[in-house]
Amino acid sequence: MNFHVLTLFPDMIVNGLNTSVTGRALAAGKIHLNAVDIREYSKDKHKHVDDYPYGGGAGMVMQPEPIYLAYEDMIKDMEKPPRVIYVTPQGEVFHQSIAEEFAKEEDLVFLCGHYEGVDERILEEIVTDYVSIGDYVLTGGELPAMVMIDAVSRLVPGVLNNEDSAEFESFHDNLLEHPHYTRPVEYHGKKVPDVLLSGHHKNIDKWRREESLRRTLERRPELLAKANLSKEDYKFLQSLGYPESND
Ligand code: SAM
Repeated sequence: MNFHVLTLFPDMIVNGLNTSVTGRALAAGKIHLNAVDIREYSKDKHKHVDDYPYGGGAGMVMQPEPIYLAYEDMIKDMEKPPRVIYVTPQGEVFHQSIAEEFAKEEDLVFLCGHYEGVDERILEEIVTDYVSIGDYVLTGGELPAMVMIDAVSRLVPGVLNNEDSAEFESFHDNLLEHPHYTRPVEYHGKKVPDVLLSGHHKNIDKWRREESLRRTLERRPELLAKANLSKEDYKFLQSLGYPESND
């Protein structure tokens, strides 16, 4: 999987992702990262990439031409036009299902805005997806791009040591994951639930499923409407008072 990033701060992207799990995956060649400095494509002698907004108002706007030239150079050896994600607070909010969809691609391009944003005409020309990481405004698109690259990378085969761990995680099937425990058995007077020490896998699976349902009901009840629930799941949730009656 090849991640390409159009950015004014390539070091931020490279340094951020060259750490921990993504860093290992990059070193092992499981994923590739190509962070391109848009400024390198500025024809301005001072390497300017932004200008004042037409119509007035505060802030600067990123100009279309350096982005276009960087993009053209980036895709010249690709077999088909890639998905180009403009990270923006005005996009669809990023979610595990979007990460799963992106993980199917061979190449993904992220465009990181700065200042007030990017000239609309280049967005109309090259962008296929507008994606936000949440309803708040950051100074630039580098952190959102890194968030998405991290989430997608974990779904690429071979990136995680144990691929099962991506399968049963939170948001897979719209449920939050069950709680985890490790050694010691007793910590600050609290014991690990007996069932987890029993070695009885069927009971452990049942406990984990129920804790996952309980936790989702407590913390993110709106997810349950989209989850794939069995009769047993419903029964368990009903015992916890779900769904709440409107009467
Ligand atoms: N003026 C823009 C607006 O009101 O929609 C916000 C511009 S923001 C200061 C600069 C850049 O940061 C954006 O172009 C975008 O690339 C990135 N950005 C900021 N917040 C973001 C978010 N929540 N999700 C994704 N990208 C974001």
